[in-house]
Amino acid sequence: MSLKASVTPKGAILLGKYLACDAFDEAKPLRVVTHAHSDHLLGLRESLKSCVTVMMTPATKDLIDVLKGPLFLMAGQVKTLQYEKEFTYGDERLTLHFADHILGAAQALIVDSQGTRILYTSDFRLPETPIIESDILVTETTYGRPYRIRPFRKQVNRILISLVEQGLKRGPVYLFGYYGKLQEVMQILHRAGIRVPFVVPEKVFRVSKICERHGMTLGRYFLSSSEEAQSVTKKHQPYVAFYHMGSRRYVGKDALRISVSGWEFEGPCRRTAENEYVIALSDHADFKGLIRYVKESKPKLVVTDNYRAGDAVSLAREIQKKLNIPAKPLPAKRDS
Ligand SMILES: [Zn+2]
Repeated sequence: MSLKASVTPKGAILLGKYLACDAFDEAKPLRVVTHAHSDHLLGLRESLKSCVTVMMTPATKDLIDVLKGPLFLMAGQVKTLQYEKEFTYGDERLTLHFADHILGAAQALIVDSQGTRILYTSDFRLPETPIIESDILVTETTYGRPYRIRPFRKQVNRILISLVEQGLKRGPVYLFGYYGKLQEVMQILHRAGIRVPFVVPEKVFRVSKICERHGMTLGRYFLSSSEEAQSVTKKHQPYVAFYHMGSRRYVGKDALRISVSGWEFEGPCRRTAENEYVIALSDHADFKGLIRYVKESKPKLVVTDNYRAGDAVSLAREIQKKLNIPAKPLPAKRDS
């Protein structure tokens, strides 16, 4: 009997008879893009060329238009699908469910002709992500080892806010992170009442516009090349700049520098240099969250994604041990 869910050596999550998620698979007519992170856009060009339909949430489409350029998705049949709306293909039904990760992120559920519920969580974090019941579950594995836990999760925002407030008393603050998470930080600071100008380079600016269009509130931010931003930065007035991780070496050398990263387990905040900190802000469930999701989803079989970065082998072992549910990492060997 062939499995109703699998992960291919190229990273495609196969659900049911027709669907491949997050990487290209030549045998599947449908492709879902669960969110706009690059390890979930694998082979998208090929999928656009050969799939009957490529599906994603409206917000994910808008983000890809910014990250890849507006022409990119025009190369294929793209259909946007709202959360909870059903799409039927052949004798199977697809639904996307909300996932708390980055803007637009979705879990994908297939219900096949026998009523089997086949679910891919994609990347998610708890407690905001709804746990969907399944028969066969494919889960992400980022923090799949038992010691990857963050019991201090609830303190993180508070500490981030006070660190920024402290820094602003002395001058500018530079924040470094990935697209999506930077906007989450903007929203956290704005909601905390921090009302200095935010300064952002062009791509962060455009991603921020999309986030606002889809309901996030980010405060007032200015393109770093604009007159407003120039006048603020030249006078060394308090402001917060938001840059992609990749720019860390080039900007904000004299400012207070804060990176946001999920790969922190010792505590919510760590000082790494004289004027430099790492804050443990993650957009993934920690180990306990992964186990809790599996337990409450009540599957009969679990597949752990052994293609993307994470600990699929460890997580599968722990699921069998702790929950007594058969679990296996796929693909069997990572294709690296
Ligand atoms: Zn992701």
